[in-house]
Amino acid sequence: MSAVRIVADTGRCIGAGQCVLTAADLFDQDENGIVELLTDGVVSGDDVARVREAEHLCPAAALTVAPDTDGTTGPPGQQGA
Ligand code: SF4
Repeated sequence: MSAVRIVADTGRCIGAGQCVLTAADLFDQDENGIVELLTDGVVSGDDVARVREAEHLCPAAALTVAPDTDGTTGPPGQQGA
C-alpha cells in the first residue's frame, strides 16, 4: 500500500474550494475560505486518486501531494509512481 502525504499551503490558498468539492471528507475551509485538512495529511487507497485530483484542480497550486515513506515526509514535488 502506497500512502501519500498532502501538504496544504494556506498562504497560497485563494479559497476556491475545488479541493472541498473533490473530497469533502478530506478537505474543509475555515471561515475565511482557507483550506483545512480533515486528516493528518496521510492518505492511502482510493483517497490517493482524489487528493491528486484536488492537487490538479487547485487553481492556486496550494496543494502538494508527495509520497509518504512511513511517516517521513519527502520533499514537495517528488511525484512517485
Ligand atoms: S482548491 Fe486550492 S485554492 Fe481552493 S480552497 Fe482548496 S487549496 Fe485553497
